Amino acid sequence: MLRVGASVGSSYCPVVLGYDTRTSSEAMKHSLISGLLAAGSKVYDAGIIPTPTLGYAARNFAAAVMITASHNPPEYNGVKLLNPDGSAFDSGQQNQIELVIQRDSLELAPWHEMEKCLPFNMAVEEHVSRILEDFDNELRLKVVIDCGCGAASLVSPYLLERLGCEIIAINCYPSGFFPRGIEPVPENLTYLIDIVRAVKADIGMAYDGDGDRIVVIDEKGRVIPGDKLLIIFARELGAKRVVTTQEASMIIDEAGFEVTRTKVGDPFVSVALKGGGDFGGEPSGCWFFPKLSLCPDAIHATAWTVKIASETKLSSLVDNIPSYPILRGSVPAEKTIMAKVEERLVSSTNPPLVIKIDGIRLTFEDGWLLIRPSGTELKIRVTAEARSQQRVKELYNWGIQAIKDCSRE
Ligand code: MG
Repeated sequence: MLRVGASVGSSYCPVVLGYDTRTSSEAMKHSLISGLLAAGSKVYDAGIIPTPTLGYAARNFAAAVMITASHNPPEYNGVKLLNPDGSAFDSGQQNQIELVIQRDSLELAPWHEMEKCLPFNMAVEEHVSRILEDFDNELRLKVVIDCGCGAASLVSPYLLERLGCEIIAINCYPSGFFPRGIEPVPENLTYLIDIVRAVKADIGMAYDGDGDRIVVIDEKGRVIPGDKLLIIFARELGAKRVVTTQEASMIIDEAGFEVTRTKVGDPFVSVALKGGGDFGGEPSGCWFFPKLSLCPDAIHATAWTVKIASETKLSSLVDNIPSYPILRGSVPAEKTIMAKVEERLVSSTNPPLVIKIDGIRLTFEDGWLLIRPSGTELKIRVTAEARSQQRVKELYNWGIQAIKDCSRE
């Protein structure tokens, strides 16, 4: 962290930093600040805040550093580096930071150029106030939130209170221990779902560790699939141009938006939105509102969800969007076989459209198949979607079989 700080501080000044609730964040923060100051940067400490709150604060700084491991277990920690527009550092910027980290010696500022770290206490108030500008504060809904004891604990209840909601808050204390399993996936949300049903709430919402991801539960206690939530948000915002990833459902294209698709991962959506777009999203729960920042903003999404549910029951919006079967899986394999897999699949299935942004995506009239190497494991991932169960199985099996055949040869 000292080296990360020294590297960032040698290129960016002033820098604002924030961190989530992890027990190691405090120790890491002091090393980071030390590195930033030693490199001669001016440093502002915004305290425990969600990543999107830091992303919004970043507009007044040269860069922002968030200490977090996002949705990963509490024993992990790391950093996210953000630009003034809230977007993640692109690969060029990351490479430059890494280059300095790997040098044998650090370049330090002369003694008379070293500064003090100052507190920056306005981040939450500025973020929440800016969000509230676009909303009525008389949205009297009953809302259950589960912040997972992550950074959203310090912002989401406050925002909902100012929107006029009745709030039932669980896991909303910043303990550094994530009692429910920090990734907001359905298997970690059974308790929240039970409460939504028991108290007859209008909405349930759950966040990840650094409060940039949100998953929404309708008033019937059903987790809203991310692809459908993307459409619901984009429609409410009146968006025409929507950015999402290669892995998102074809229902988004069918909903009539002009869709740009990126590699899988929210930083790619963020970077693509720099080229334009009214709304962006990744179905795992990252939602981008480019008017405020290019950081996925679960806090902003909270306000939009309440507004939407105040107009129409979430369940009826969900049920009015079609569902297609999707199959996801993987095969242990080296990514070096990708070229062979691609050649085999294209020649045997003759798809009308092949896109090579992230592995290969074969698009057919009635479905698609995505084959891409995992970024973190020695696996090749397969995703297929189609209008019928039979067809989705067929597409999925083509992918699995091609990988198996090619890795055996
Ligand atoms: Mg996150």
